[in-house]
Amino acid sequence: MTSLSDLPLRADLVGKTPYGAPQDAVPVSLNVNENTHPIPEHVVADITASLEAAVRGANRYPDREFLGLRGALADYLGHGLSAEQLWAANGSNEVLQQVLQAFGGPGRTLLSFTPSYSMYSILANGTGTDWVAVPRPEDFALSPEFVAAALAEAQPDIAIICAPNNPTGTPVSRETILAAYDAFDGILIVDEAYREFADDDDAWPGAVSLLPGRHRMLVSRTMSKAFAFAGVRLGYLAADAAVIDALRLVRLPYHLSALTQAAATAALRHAETMLGTVAEIRAQRDRLAAALTDLGYRVYPSGSNFLLAGGFADPVDTFTKLRERGILIRDVGIPGHLRFTAGTDEETGILIGALQELRAIEQGASQS
Ligand SMILES: *Cc1c(COP(=O)(O)O)cnc(C)c1O
Repeated sequence: MTSLSDLPLRADLVGKTPYGAPQDAVPVSLNVNENTHPIPEHVVADITASLEAAVRGANRYPDREFLGLRGALADYLGHGLSAEQLWAANGSNEVLQQVLQAFGGPGRTLLSFTPSYSMYSILANGTGTDWVAVPRPEDFALSPEFVAAALAEAQPDIAIICAPNNPTGTPVSRETILAAYDAFDGILIVDEAYREFADDDDAWPGAVSLLPGRHRMLVSRTMSKAFAFAGVRLGYLAADAAVIDALRLVRLPYHLSALTQAAATAALRHAETMLGTVAEIRAQRDRLAAALTDLGYRVYPSGSNFLLAGGFADPVDTFTKLRERGILIRDVGIPGHLRFTAGTDEETGILIGALQELRAIEQGASQS
């Protein structure tokens, strides 16, 4: 059998591992931060009608500049954005890859504050960009002073701040984003994959509001999380129109299929409905946080639809025992920690019940 070592693989990819969140069919799947609520039937019907029309025209290539979808995304984001300032691709992962292709590459650096989204280093590897990981403080929070010092010293070509941060859930303040932007001369990507989960009383509307006058700031978003549309693969970016022109140099022609454009544009017509479960998911997140805290775990503040909790004596064992009970969560590789996506009321109830059961077994064992 041929193995990787038999192939003339690029030297800088030897020994690397692909992105690998487990995908298996379990009753309670809470491991990749999807919105676990189904799409309402009337929205399904409208999207299906748009798809049907797109299939009729599928003998032709799709609109390469997809201005219809970009206009719909601009309207959705607001803040006076226009279609020229929007870009989209097959998931924000592809958008980020295009940004690295245009602004990173050999001899250039990408910096982020770890632990953060595991795809950042993988995208750096794939594009030949040097990866610089700056460890976060013990509580994972980023102060303006901390990011400014790190960026001023490293002067990376590109920095990514995940806001709120995956896998820790940590919200990021306006002051921290502004301090980061002013501290270096490179491209600053603010990854707002979870922005829609920000609490209603969150003091600021997100990095999109900071774009005017800041042409090196790029804000990435996705329909994969709050918007309940992960399977369609639609991520997007808001930035200066010149940045979008740069991405056009590296994108593949017709990268967004006619079906993707049709589905995403139709779903955006129902944005309010698609986001209708956000308040409920936040409530389930807070319920799960309270339960984990009661059980003696350390729960980190979260501005997203998931929680990171510490204090697991053997995270792999807890992961495995939950898996045996039909519950899939995420071991993100932080010692003593596990990550849980907030699901429906029922899913959260099942998860909490299983965690309580495992804790009781553990305490029984330690007393005997
Ligand atoms: C899930 C996630 C993404 C999104 O990916 P898509 O490719 O849009 O599905 C981007 N950034 C972070 C931090 C994420 O957690």
